[in-house]
Amino acid sequence: MATRKPAKAGASKGKAAASQASKGKTAQKTRDAKSKKEGALLRRNCGTMAVHMMLLEKYPAFRARQFQLEQDTALRRAKAIDVKKLKVATVRIVVNVLYHTPEQNITLGQIRSQIAALNKDFGATNSDKAKTPVPWRGLVTDSRIRFKLFKVQRKRTTKASFGQDDGVKKAAAGGLPPLGAEKYLNLWSCALGGGLLGYAQFPGGPAATDGVVINYRAFGTRGTAQAPFDKGRTATHEIGHFFNLRHIWGDTEDCSGSDFVADTPNCAGPNYGKPGFPHVTCNNGPNGDMYVNYMDYTDDASMFMFTTQQVIRMRSALEGPRKKLMT
Ligand SMILES: [Zn+2]
Repeated sequence: MATRKPAKAGASKGKAAASQASKGKTAQKTRDAKSKKEGALLRRNCGTMAVHMMLLEKYPAFRARQFQLEQDTALRRAKAIDVKKLKVATVRIVVNVLYHTPEQNITLGQIRSQIAALNKDFGATNSDKAKTPVPWRGLVTDSRIRFKLFKVQRKRTTKASFGQDDGVKKAAAGGLPPLGAEKYLNLWSCALGGGLLGYAQFPGGPAATDGVVINYRAFGTRGTAQAPFDKGRTATHEIGHFFNLRHIWGDTEDCSGSDFVADTPNCAGPNYGKPGFPHVTCNNGPNGDMYVNYMDYTDDASMFMFTTQQVIRMRSALEGPRKKLMT
């Protein structure tokens, strides 16, 4: 059908097509200008560690609570927990939508698409897990954490975009404060500057800023979500941090860092895009970096799994400092 249309087009249709093409060009220009301003989403960029370092400086008690949680996690790991017997916990989500343009006021359908993606990823029922390289298939683990949409709050903001300074969580800075941050997992959807996809707060931090911020162009699986971040996995990654998971390369630029998880191989740094198997660094051959892990920096279409030890780490946070989220 599409190939026959141009042959049939008369003079007026030709004009319409030209006008359509010019409109298309204008739209493309607008998108380019917007990308330049907000920062193009070419590769994953998560602000969690930078935010974490700032918060630790500001709130010394946060460091102590993180240390305590690390001790508790080690004890739990030593108990050889059967992850298949973990209680299924449903976490209620509040979505705070901050919009400067009508496009940023994402639809309820788009919000629901994000919750659906989270339930698949955290339940290990995501269909693309079959693409996990064979050596790691046995490690793909259901966290037995599920998510339910509780409330959506919307606010028009004068801010063209937000940064990683938690302004999106403060009314005075054009944002919205979290609703019941101890009982609900608060997500913020907004325009983020500098090519930032999102950031999260680790357990034990201040309640006024607790939750996860996600770029509206990487939120959910439809609407404003744009490839290669249109499978909802920015939220999966950031909620991993919210439950105390670290990046799998341990946030150092050499092989010295650790994510405090034994079944993710030690690796040198983040993997971007869609890597091929194997990508060997830090003497981690023959299988190499676990770039298919949600806690790497690969594209949404290249990440499929949490490991058993990551699940145990998340559950230590959920059943410890985040236990009020459990229903
Ligand atoms: Zn991250």
